[in-house]
Amino acid sequence: EPGDAEHSFRAQDLVIERSTVRQPPINLQDLKFGTVFTDHMFLAEHAAGHGWGVPAIKPLGMLQLHPACQVLHYGMCCFEGMKAYQGADGRVRLFRPERNMARLRRSARRLQLADFDPQELLACLKQLLLVDRSWLPVQEGYSIYIRPFAFASSGVLGVAKPTRTTLSILLSPVGPYFPTGLQPVSLFVDEHNRRAWPGGAGDCKIGGNYAPTIMPQVEAAQRHGVPQVLYTFKEAAQHPDEAQFEEAGAMNVFFYLQRRDGSRVLATPPLAGTILPGVTRDSILQLACSWGAEVGEVEERPVTIAEVREAHAEGRLLEMFGCGTACVVQPVGSLVRASGEVFTTAAPFDAQRSLAGRLQQALLDIQYGRVEHPWSVAV
Ligand code: PMP
Repeated sequence: EPGDAEHSFRAQDLVIERSTVRQPPINLQDLKFGTVFTDHMFLAEHAAGHGWGVPAIKPLGMLQLHPACQVLHYGMCCFEGMKAYQGADGRVRLFRPERNMARLRRSARRLQLADFDPQELLACLKQLLLVDRSWLPVQEGYSIYIRPFAFASSGVLGVAKPTRTTLSILLSPVGPYFPTGLQPVSLFVDEHNRRAWPGGAGDCKIGGNYAPTIMPQVEAAQRHGVPQVLYTFKEAAQHPDEAQFEEAGAMNVFFYLQRRDGSRVLATPPLAGTILPGVTRDSILQLACSWGAEVGEVEERPVTIAEVREAHAEGRLLEMFGCGTACVVQPVGSLVRASGEVFTTAAPFDAQRSLAGRLQQALLDIQYGRVEHPWSVAV
């Protein structure tokens, strides 16, 4: 992709200012996602005409912003979500981190924020992880959630290309997503609210894609008791059952179906610009393909409500699951439509033998470095 990465900040210029405050030890038992942060943060700022300033690792602290800064008015911000794991060999490990760096760069470009060299940002992240190394819990299932983000910090009200960019990384220790093991959830099939649309920016991880999803999510939780919404899309003239599944609020989705001839297919919506190109999604596609006949066909293609309804009616809806950095794999036991119609999987979820369970185990083994794999990068 064309960009201006040659004018990036460089990790070799990093200035490290160590925190003198010691935070009290964290209680791992009641660690709530995204509420506890480590001692340090990464910060780099870019100004038009001046370029990037000196990148810094400094004590976690408040940011001072001009009240007119564009992010507060037009949502000009983007972010990433990734994790660092305590490897079986004792080293800090990242999972395919170059993918997140490249995706952040793409998102920043969509907002016309300042460009940077993704390899330099990754090198800075590694430094930050080493500075806050002691925050990485050693316990199985724990990790440090990494939140790189960038936003328009120009204090001008114009809806225009930002003249200032702030780029930062926060680290937050997190516990196991499933303290009691994999539990299937229900998702509400939203046929009214659209998350994204052809020609939009649904494939970028920008704040503007997330802010409008809070209301549908709260309403679905209130009315149907579900944790997340499964978004759909259809052209206006199409029948409601022709709607295609897109993705959940923060997960890509997979459907494991049996065909009428008995063969099996693992299908996931295609990257057609309206869903986030998930790192976990891509990893699952590659793993499932490599497992061959054990899985069946693996397909990236539209999956419609009609197809799932028919599979459900004929007992051929084997499994459904969401996937993402936070949960890795989230089994879905049923889909609920506003009409009251419910699609449930043909058999109850089996953590050991299901495809979702096996994928989860395979990914965790790679992420924690229990098996040797090029996707796992030691810091
Ligand atoms: N879709 C959306 C909308 C998300 O926010 C996320 C989380 N980043 C995902 C899918 C999963 O992406 P990944 O596997 O890269 O975490």
